Amino acid sequence: MRKKVIIGNWKMNNDKKETADLLLSLLKETWKKEINVKVSPSFVNLENAEKILKNSPIEVVAQNMHYENEGAYTGEISYKMLKSININSVIIGHSERRTIFSENDDIIKRKIVTALNNKMHVIFCFGESSENRNENKHYEIISEQLDVVMHSLTKNQWNQIILAYEPVWAIGTGVNATPEQAQEIHKYVRNKIAIAYNKNLANSVPIIYGGSLKPNNSKEIFSKPDIDGGLVGGASLSFKDFYSIIKSID
Ligand code: PEP
Repeated sequence: MRKKVIIGNWKMNNDKKETADLLLSLLKETWKKEINVKVSPSFVNLENAEKILKNSPIEVVAQNMHYENEGAYTGEISYKMLKSININSVIIGHSERRTIFSENDDIIKRKIVTALNNKMHVIFCFGESSENRNENKHYEIISEQLDVVMHSLTKNQWNQIILAYEPVWAIGTGVNATPEQAQEIHKYVRNKIAIAYNKNLANSVPIIYGGSLKPNNSKEIFSKPDIDGGLVGGASLSFKDFYSIIKSID
């Protein structure tokens, strides 16, 4: 059975105390051990978050990293720095990185290659814009974005990947994809992996959904057969909402 994954992406929110408070609240709660809960605080709070969550099942994930190991890249963070504070997973390809910070498929590919080659796990985000969907180009765009990892990864490297379908029009807008729209894309992605590799591998890859997940829509979205959890932005900043989203997959 595929693992279930819920990730809270806190983006550029929560200072040191707010981060600690949210984590301490989460630590008091329980859920089934099959559910992998991860949180992604800002860079400056990663180390403290890691310390607070030590010996807990909650994993700390970075929101970004550079593709080079080190060098003259002012303001950037390398995989080595992340690993030195026990951070072994990173979100790559988030739509805010693609649009606001102009990350293209080439940059995203380089980041993924660096992460995987250095034994990091990657939450790889992809998804179409509203224009793409209105022009009926969403499958084409998603397929292009996924070609960054399709064919080039070894079968073992797929164990280090979680795919996150995040339609851009649903991120932070309050308009979520319907469970049917999300399921349709997840099924398409799984089928694409099956064609490029094989069905067994395709069935082993967690594909999670992100985009205005809230306590009132998560249960129905998670009930779909190819949706293995969620990447939660806004709602993960509230302990009550985040915990209720975790419980909705329980
Ligand atoms: C995200 O940024 O990954 C996200 C899904 O945000 P939100 O839940 O706020 O739409």
